[in-house]
Amino acid sequence: MGDASSVSTEMRAEEQITVTFPNGVKRSIPKGAKIKEFSDQWEKEAVAAQMNGVSVDLSRSLEKDVSISFISIQSRKGLEILRHSAAHVMAQAVKELFPTAKLTFGPSTESGFYYDFDYDRAFTPQDLEKIEKRASEIIQQDLPFIRKEVSKEEAIQTFREMGETYKVEHLEELPDRVSLYRQGTFVDLCEGPHLPSTGRIKAFKLLNVSGTYWRGDARNKVLQRIYGTAFPEPKALEEYLRMLEEARKRDHRKLGKELDLFSIHEEAGPGLVIYHPKGAMLRTVLEDFEKKEHLKRGYQIVIGPQLLRLDLWKRSGHFENYRDKMYFTKVEDAEYGIKPMNCLAHMLIYKSQIRSYRDLPLRYFELGTVHRHEKSGELHGLLRVRGFTQDDAHILCRPDQLNDEIGAIIDFVDDVMKVFGFEYEVELSTRPEKSIGADEDWERATHALLQALKTKNLSFEINEGEGAFYGPKIDVKLKDALHRRWQCATIQVDFAMPERFDLTYVGSDGERHRPVMLHRVILGAMERFIGVLIEHYAGAFPVWLAPIQAILLTVTDRHIPYAEKIYAQLIEKGIRVEKDFRNEKLGFKIREAQIQKIPYMLVMGDREESEETVSPRQRSGEGLKGMRIEDFIKQVESEYPTI
Ligand SMILES: [Zn+2]
Ligand SMILES: [Zn+2]
Repeated sequence: MGDASSVSTEMRAEEQITVTFPNGVKRSIPKGAKIKEFSDQWEKEAVAAQMNGVSVDLSRSLEKDVSISFISIQSRKGLEILRHSAAHVMAQAVKELFPTAKLTFGPSTESGFYYDFDYDRAFTPQDLEKIEKRASEIIQQDLPFIRKEVSKEEAIQTFREMGETYKVEHLEELPDRVSLYRQGTFVDLCEGPHLPSTGRIKAFKLLNVSGTYWRGDARNKVLQRIYGTAFPEPKALEEYLRMLEEARKRDHRKLGKELDLFSIHEEAGPGLVIYHPKGAMLRTVLEDFEKKEHLKRGYQIVIGPQLLRLDLWKRSGHFENYRDKMYFTKVEDAEYGIKPMNCLAHMLIYKSQIRSYRDLPLRYFELGTVHRHEKSGELHGLLRVRGFTQDDAHILCRPDQLNDEIGAIIDFVDDVMKVFGFEYEVELSTRPEKSIGADEDWERATHALLQALKTKNLSFEINEGEGAFYGPKIDVKLKDALHRRWQCATIQVDFAMPERFDLTYVGSDGERHRPVMLHRVILGAMERFIGVLIEHYAGAFPVWLAPIQAILLTVTDRHIPYAEKIYAQLIEKGIRVEKDFRNEKLGFKIREAQIQKIPYMLVMGDREESEETVSPRQRSGEGLKGMRIEDFIKQVESEYPTI
């Protein structure tokens, strides 16, 4: 406090600043130094840095005291930066080879990157080869990515001169200061960060091209989307290409047709799924499993309507924050919104009675069908649809119960993921730009989620600004057999809706208190989860999930009466069984059943009939010994999950 030492610190501070590293180590460095100047020990791995939590280039200079952590190329974030930088390289190659192509957007994706171009014809596979070759040369040149901050007007001027009309249109929506990035002669509008230079891309591959629309809207112009990927080393790319080949074989749209599970018809509406008998059976099995597991965990099943009055959607904040994704309709002059979420009816159930602190927590579960307007360009089989059913629940609890409730949901997710053999990763998504509720509530809610993750000792990544409009959330991403990540469970803490709907309970003090609301799903959208399951199992569902568990194959017509008797016994026991009594060669019938990936084939011949047994044959081709029908039923039942 005003002694000699603090005076000297203040004087030094004019030219020195303090950088704090994640391990707490502080270093004094000259003001204006670039991050890369003291990243020596990181040189090999670091591709960018986090400066006070914001991702920046290694070439960024430091002007005041900051905390810095490095982003390794091996991390998810580092890989994203690598791939996004690769998109810039591809765009440069395209502009050099096809100067009239106009730039739009080029983000990184879960497994690579794409860039959309407005060009007067579709790019051909030969074009892609040329672009890939040119991109490799740009990588060889090891061009630095150079950032320049400019005023919006200057940027508009720059892109207008280049004829980049889409960039100009996008700029109109941006704040006053923007950043441009240049490598070689190529300039793009971008927030960054990027790799230090193009040479850091050690493996680069273009994958395919497809048509899309400007801003994903079918009323807009068709654009050419070129997909590619990039990796820190060539081996990882080879591995990825092998995985892609396997994924093509497992594509749920292809298998969904071959296994006769579902269809989507342009004439019925894009993104609207029609379940055929086997697909509907698969979904019913999943839904029965879910109901049972929820009831075991103290949930109550509820059912809400598809339409609710518009006024209610205004009160909940959906109309203000979620309108773009909603469908509306008019009935007898009253306006309604088709539900995009299931929350509202659940709150009305809560409000239908006076609740006491002893009644809580209340856990309402609904297999709730919702409709959301996803852009037509983004629809994809079962994975991205417009109508879907969530395994949705809302838990209303006291603040002191929050930690236990979140913990119980995390355990629930863990149990369910094990049943399907999925590993998973956890992310914490924080407050988005469009949101309702007070700052302190967002803080409390985020803290509650963090606390629960800590209690459960789970490691997680943070997704800035990816929360729901009413609260932060934990996102669970499962990893399938091909190591791809898919969003499934979410847990959201919400202080805002109970406030807006004036939900209360009477506390032990006789006063009225506000409950906290948790929104959560475990599998997420059933459609999406089924799509993931089809690809995860390559259509060969485990016995408990398989829509058809066994098929009876007669050797000749003579065996039909015996087969009918076995059929009656099996369906009586709830085994899902099909008959193939056609007068065809047995080998042919077996092959067809194998293509249908039915777990058990039961051949009905002389020996089975005389011994009163069945001889199950597994879809792998392996035959089991003849067994009595009771034992076969036990065998099937033993393959059901126990959690
Ligand atoms: Zn960029
Ligand atoms: Zn909800």
